[in-house]
Amino acid sequence: GRFVITIDGPAGSGKSSIAELLSKRDGFVHINSGAFYRSIAFILGDKPTDEELKKLKLDVRIKDGKMIVFYNGERIDDKLQAESIGRIASKIAKLSFVRDFVNSTIRKVAMNGMFVVDGRDCGSVMFKDADLKIYLTASAEERARRRAAQTNEDYDFVLKEIKDRDEQDKNREIAPLVKPYGAFEIDSTKLDIEGVYKRIKS
Ligand code: C5P
Repeated sequence: GRFVITIDGPAGSGKSSIAELLSKRDGFVHINSGAFYRSIAFILGDKPTDEELKKLKLDVRIKDGKMIVFYNGERIDDKLQAESIGRIASKIAKLSFVRDFVNSTIRKVAMNGMFVVDGRDCGSVMFKDADLKIYLTASAEERARRRAAQTNEDYDFVLKEIKDRDEQDKNREIAPLVKPYGAFEIDSTKLDIEGVYKRIKS
């Protein structure tokens, strides 16, 4: 069988952190769907073609409840965090052939077992039938503070970038960021990760 929790929300709302905690404590495999958009951005840049994508061989492995992405025999998932890659990821995430590629790859990875999948459309498109859907939010300032601390980038730069990315993600025509139907909304502006965890488990 399969049990899926989806966590959607804007950049820096804490999706990955809470997904990692659910993975550590409760045995879920964490699938970070943003890492797929970032990987494609990292490898193919901001103008990928359908042909390039079809030839792209991303090697996705699961280890200790975590997804690891290899390309050409080299681990790349730990090279994708910069906001500059997030920006390109957000740009190419508007292309339907890119979204189809990511969705079908993830659905294949998450066939059997317990998964927590985070991103923008996990509860609204990728896993409409998820067992539990969370919509995680926080103020833009708090999200920028967290991201800047994570990546060591300048706060004002990160704040501007994530506001731009929010705009792009919410206003695009295909799979826009929305609160998925049936999702529980959690505002993490004033909640730490343990607080979010408690809300999810309650
Ligand atoms: O979550 P993360 O910041 O890594 O995502 C990078 C970009 O990838 C997002 O800004 C968004 O445009 C895109 N994305 C998406 N759908 C997802 C996950 C990420 O469109 N499920």
